[in-house]
Amino acid sequence: MTTTPLQDLAKSLHNCQRCKLAKLGRSQVVFGVGNPHASIMFVGEAPGANEDLKGEPFVGAAGKILNDLLQSANLSRDDIYIANVIKCRPPENRDPELDEVETCKPFLLQQIQLIRPKLVCTLGNWATQTLLERKVGITKVKAQAFYMKNFVLFPLLHPAAALHQGGLLDTLKADFKKLKEFLDRNTKPAAPTAPSPSAVATLQIDPPHPTQMDLF
Ligand code: URA
Repeated sequence: MTTTPLQDLAKSLHNCQRCKLAKLGRSQVVFGVGNPHASIMFVGEAPGANEDLKGEPFVGAAGKILNDLLQSANLSRDDIYIANVIKCRPPENRDPELDEVETCKPFLLQQIQLIRPKLVCTLGNWATQTLLERKVGITKVKAQAFYMKNFVLFPLLHPAAALHQGGLLDTLKADFKKLKEFLDRNTKPAAPTAPSPSAVATLQIDPPHPTQMDLF
């Protein structure tokens, strides 16, 4: 049976030993899941305990919040692709360390290159700073579009933030509303002959507004 380059990449990381996380209690590599042709990709930080057990990103408490937020933006997990910056669970859910991010980042970039999403929504500081390549706080850049070379980056708070600080759920909801508005603005009507396409299938993002350049 022939395999796709994305499947080949996943296979090449199976039982990865490239960084110390391989020996620090992870049970498996959590590569990513979803539509390999998605126009929209979500990127989190690292697998937690539930993700490590199931082998899928965002299947625990933060995943439940993410599912509700996705629904509020008319998105389903079938439409999108979800991955993390680092593919193995750090012990005690500690923050990723620099060498771990540096080791795993090329694989995230390859996933993006193979899936070719038009929009990448980063969840939290780690994913945002990794893909923006700037050490900038998420609260400063969240819920706005950054026009990168090959995709538009749309940073969002990490859903787990709402688990630690209940008040942030309202902020997340408001930011997903902005995401929906961005998608609505950039979704072109489908050709009348197309068989009931989802909004995601027709996402076409126009070039940036010049004011974007002032953000940094
Ligand atoms: N948090 C993340 O950043 N990723 C997951 O997959 C789960 C929780």
